[in-house]
Amino acid sequence: MHELSVMANTLEIALDQMRRQGASRIHVITLRIGELSGVVPEALTFAFEAVVIGTPAEKARLVVEVVPVLCHCPRCGNEFHPADVIYQCPTCAHISADVRGGCELELASLEVS
Ligand SMILES: [Zn+2]
Repeated sequence: MHELSVMANTLEIALDQMRRQGASRIHVITLRIGELSGVVPEALTFAFEAVVIGTPAEKARLVVEVVPVLCHCPRCGNEFHPADVIYQCPTCAHISADVRGGCELELASLEVS
Protein backbone atom coordinates (compact mmCIF):
# COMPACT_ATOMS: atom_id res chain seq x y z
CA MET A 1 0.00 0.00 0.00
CA HIS A 2 1.71 3.11 -1.35
CA GLU A 3 -0.18 5.56 0.88
CA LEU A 4 1.07 3.89 4.05
CA SER A 5 4.73 4.48 3.19
CA VAL A 6 3.95 8.02 2.01
CA MET A 7 2.21 8.74 5.29
CA ALA A 8 4.96 7.15 7.39
CA ASN A 9 7.56 9.33 5.65
CA THR A 10 5.42 12.44 6.03
CA LEU A 11 4.90 11.76 9.72
CA GLU A 12 8.65 11.42 10.19
CA ILE A 13 9.25 14.81 8.56
CA ALA A 14 6.44 16.35 10.62
CA LEU A 15 7.81 14.95 13.89
CA ASP A 16 11.26 16.22 13.00
CA GLN A 17 9.91 19.74 12.36
CA MET A 18 7.91 19.59 15.58
CA ARG A 19 11.07 18.81 17.59
CA ARG A 20 13.02 21.56 15.88
CA GLN A 21 10.35 24.03 16.92
CA GLY A 22 10.62 22.78 20.48
CA ALA A 23 7.02 21.54 20.42
CA SER A 24 5.65 18.27 21.77
CA ARG A 25 2.31 17.93 19.99
CA ILE A 26 1.12 18.09 16.41
CA HIS A 27 -2.40 19.46 15.94
CA VAL A 28 -2.84 19.83 12.21
CA ILE A 29 -0.90 18.36 9.30
CA THR A 30 -1.64 19.78 5.88
CA LEU A 31 -0.54 17.84 2.83
CA ARG A 32 -0.51 19.02 -0.76
CA ILE A 33 -1.28 16.19 -3.14
CA GLY A 34 -1.20 16.59 -6.92
CA GLU A 35 -3.84 14.87 -9.03
CA LEU A 36 -1.01 13.05 -10.82
CA SER A 37 0.81 11.98 -7.66
CA GLY A 38 -0.90 8.60 -7.74
CA VAL A 39 -2.02 8.97 -4.15
CA VAL A 40 -5.66 8.52 -3.17
CA PRO A 41 -6.67 11.11 -0.52
CA GLU A 42 -9.11 8.70 1.19
CA ALA A 43 -6.43 6.01 1.44
CA LEU A 44 -4.06 8.62 2.81
CA THR A 45 -6.49 9.55 5.58
CA PHE A 46 -6.85 5.88 6.44
CA ALA A 47 -3.06 5.41 6.49
CA PHE A 48 -2.68 8.53 8.62
CA GLU A 49 -4.94 7.13 11.32
CA ALA A 50 -2.82 3.99 11.39
CA VAL A 51 0.64 5.60 11.56
CA VAL A 52 -0.08 8.29 14.19
CA ILE A 53 -1.06 5.85 16.94
CA GLY A 54 1.28 6.25 19.89
CA THR A 55 3.02 9.33 18.44
CA PRO A 56 2.75 13.06 19.34
CA ALA A 57 0.53 13.38 16.27
CA GLU A 58 -2.04 10.93 17.59
CA LYS A 59 -4.73 13.61 18.02
CA ALA A 60 -3.76 15.57 14.92
CA ARG A 61 -6.12 16.40 12.12
CA LEU A 62 -5.06 15.64 8.56
CA VAL A 63 -5.92 18.19 5.90
CA VAL A 64 -5.41 17.14 2.28
CA GLU A 65 -5.21 19.85 -0.37
CA VAL A 66 -5.62 18.43 -3.86
CA VAL A 67 -3.65 20.28 -6.53
CA PRO A 68 -5.23 20.07 -9.99
CA VAL A 69 -3.25 19.16 -13.10
CA LEU A 70 -1.89 22.24 -14.83
CA CYS A 71 -0.71 22.09 -18.43
CA HIS A 72 1.24 24.63 -20.41
CA CYS A 73 0.54 24.91 -24.14
CA PRO A 74 3.80 25.29 -26.09
CA ARG A 75 1.94 26.69 -29.10
CA CYS A 76 -0.10 29.55 -27.63
CA GLY A 77 1.39 29.84 -24.14
CA ASN A 78 -1.92 29.15 -22.44
CA GLU A 79 -1.99 27.43 -19.07
CA PHE A 80 -4.97 25.19 -18.56
CA HIS A 81 -6.54 22.51 -16.45
CA PRO A 82 -7.17 19.56 -18.78
CA ALA A 83 -10.73 18.27 -18.92
CA ASP A 84 -9.67 14.63 -19.25
CA VAL A 85 -6.63 12.39 -19.79
CA ILE A 86 -5.90 14.00 -23.14
CA TYR A 87 -4.19 17.31 -22.40
CA GLN A 88 -5.70 19.37 -25.18
CA CYS A 89 -5.41 23.14 -25.06
CA PRO A 90 -8.89 24.72 -24.91
CA THR A 91 -7.66 27.78 -26.82
CA CYS A 92 -5.83 26.34 -29.84
CA ALA A 93 -6.58 22.57 -29.60
CA HIS A 94 -2.89 21.67 -29.48
CA ILE A 95 -2.17 18.58 -27.40
CA SER A 96 0.38 19.40 -24.75
CA ALA A 97 2.73 17.10 -22.87
CA ASP A 98 4.09 19.96 -20.80
CA VAL A 99 2.68 19.38 -17.34
CA ARG A 100 3.52 22.16 -14.87
CA GLY A 101 1.58 21.07 -11.82
CA GLY A 102 -0.29 18.19 -10.28
CA CYS A 103 2.59 15.92 -9.26
CA GLU A 104 3.03 17.48 -5.82
CA LEU A 105 3.34 15.28 -2.79
CA GLU A 106 4.49 17.44 0.06
CA LEU A 107 3.96 18.63 3.58
CA ALA A 108 2.31 22.04 3.15
CA SER A 109 2.03 23.15 6.77
CA LEU A 110 2.07 22.04 10.35
CA GLU A 111 0.43 23.28 13.53
CA VAL A 112 2.29 22.34 16.69
CA SER A 113 2.53 23.37 20.32
ZN1 LIG B 1 -2.79 26.44 -26.98
